[in-house]
Amino acid sequence: MDPIVLASNQIPRFYRGGEAIAGFRGVPHRDEFAPEDWVGSATAVFGSETVGLSTLPDGRTVKEALDSDPEGFLGPVHAERFGSEMGLLVKLLDAGQRLPVHCHPSREFARRHLDCPYGKTEAWVVVEVRSPEPFVYLGFRDEVDLATLTGWVTGQETEEIAGAMHRLPAAAGDSILVPAGVPHSIGEGVFIVELQEPTDLSVLLEWKGFDIDGARDGHLGLGFETALGCADRSGWGREELGRLRAVRQDGEPRRPGVELLFPEEADPFFRAERIRPRGAAPLPTGVSILVVTAGSGTLEWGDRLLAVGRGNTVLIPFAAGDCVLRGSLKAVRCMPPDPGAPDASVPTFR
Ligand SMILES: [Zn+2]
Repeated sequence: MDPIVLASNQIPRFYRGGEAIAGFRGVPHRDEFAPEDWVGSATAVFGSETVGLSTLPDGRTVKEALDSDPEGFLGPVHAERFGSEMGLLVKLLDAGQRLPVHCHPSREFARRHLDCPYGKTEAWVVVEVRSPEPFVYLGFRDEVDLATLTGWVTGQETEEIAGAMHRLPAAAGDSILVPAGVPHSIGEGVFIVELQEPTDLSVLLEWKGFDIDGARDGHLGLGFETALGCADRSGWGREELGRLRAVRQDGEPRRPGVELLFPEEADPFFRAERIRPRGAAPLPTGVSILVVTAGSGTLEWGDRLLAVGRGNTVLIPFAAGDCVLRGSLKAVRCMPPDPGAPDASVPTFR
């Protein structure tokens, strides 16, 4: 089975952005409100059956393709554990304005309240920034009690919410794990590759000034009394936040030019590698979505090769076997949960 080049799949959202995606992909920038490109997606947006699903060059949706040959695409070990679900959604996300502060359910919360096996732990790999002081908000500095948070949200006291959060500078190359529950926002002008669980479950803490009625549509149909139960209201220390930004060296024998992103607590949710081939970087057999973020080169498998460059996204099926990435380029290799990892509700650091 050959690697498959994935087309752009920009989708409409209620916040601005998408220009950086259009530039990255080399497609016209037509819509001010298309800030996300769902890459190789078998996931639909909340409330829709079809919006968000990616289509392959042969006309099938990714979902249909995975269903037709889970072992070929995902490998026997993954398929035995997860069936035909990849368990991963990859996005390009270009914040044309600061996103509203929001949070996502854990698996435990999603299973209890939403009849969904997945929550939405996510992680960001910053590709580029284009504002003078790019930043993200992540986690409360001090614990916020439920009554206070409920008051802030229902009264839309958004300055209180933002003022209670850590504001972290964002720079190209940063990688940040965002465990389900932790409130967050991506600042204007930050363009990321995002890995996340395959859902579209968000609870809005903020919607004032955005083109959405958060009082009606911001709580997953649960009401805020229930929905705010998914929020991590604890205070995060600087050291704990630092762990969310950790990277790891590859194991032995180390693969030159390959860096493991995110701490190991992310492994039950997704895995990622940053690849900067020094000559050539081996990509061992396994399903992945490759996002080439800079430069150009070739992806090689068997006796075949594919020219790749910045803006290309490629679905590499398990059955493509061992691959090699060669050239002067940077790429993020996005991989599904480790099928050998125990189930977890949320990455835990305490
Ligand atoms: Zn989010």
